[in-house]
Amino acid sequence: MPELPEVETVVRDLRPHLTGRRLSVARVGDKALRRPWRREWEQPLRGRVIEQVRRRGKWIVLDLVGEAHLVFHLGMTGQLTVADAAEPLRDHTHLVFDLAEPKRGRSARQLRFRDIRRFGSATLFPTTAALQRFFVASGLGPEPFDLAEPWWARYWQKRVRRSKRCLKAILLDQTVVAGVGNIYADEALFEAKLHPGRSGSSLAPVAARRLRQGVVTVLERAIAKRGSTIRDYVGGEGLRGGYQEEFRVYGRTGKPCVRCRTALARTRLAGRSTHYCPKCQRRKDEG
Ligand SMILES: [Zn+2]
Repeated sequence: MPELPEVETVVRDLRPHLTGRRLSVARVGDKALRRPWRREWEQPLRGRVIEQVRRRGKWIVLDLVGEAHLVFHLGMTGQLTVADAAEPLRDHTHLVFDLAEPKRGRSARQLRFRDIRRFGSATLFPTTAALQRFFVASGLGPEPFDLAEPWWARYWQKRVRRSKRCLKAILLDQTVVAGVGNIYADEALFEAKLHPGRSGSSLAPVAARRLRQGVVTVLERAIAKRGSTIRDYVGGEGLRGGYQEEFRVYGRTGKPCVRCRTALARTRLAGRSTHYCPKCQRRKDEG
């Protein structure tokens, strides 16, 4: 499932191809996405110029001239890519947008949304206020890169240290920090040398800072490698990610820890498969 680094890679790939182009819906597939596409969005979208392409949590936001926003979520298997219009459409392509230069006519490029399992979505928000309401209603927490000191310490105190939930569950909660999913939660906890089953309330401030640093370090490393491809994920130019080659713990059950050579363990926390080193990430109540 695409997490922050994958979505950020898509955004960075798409930005030069989309910014300043005019958008129009060229084709809508028959099968419904998780949030169904509405035909009434097509008229107001026609010929709109894309002002900016950005990420918020795991959402891809196309800011359009005139305050509207076209917002994509990749769900589990979504792929949002630019392609030549002449390139044949692949199976499971649900939405196709023509891209035109602002002054010239139709360009030969298209933006295509493909999603095998259809947990993804594309939604038009007619105003900035509507988009903001949507993010507030979905309880989307702050971006991990925005959580700098000393703000992080106060935030952690408020949101996390009062929580009896385990660290794994806390990192997966999009209302606490946006964009972290199963892979990067495990990798960040290994980086911070914290047991995923520890409760948030057991963390001293120094360990909380280590956790914040672990999250940021792992996400930055993954973005530098264009994210991780486990199955379907590709960036905005159709290329696979490379970070799956560098996982320290995720999917490495039984293999030696890169730090201490202890066999890595797997357990189930917050309903998700969780990977960790029993030695480097010892369960302690302090520190
Ligand atoms: Zn270890």
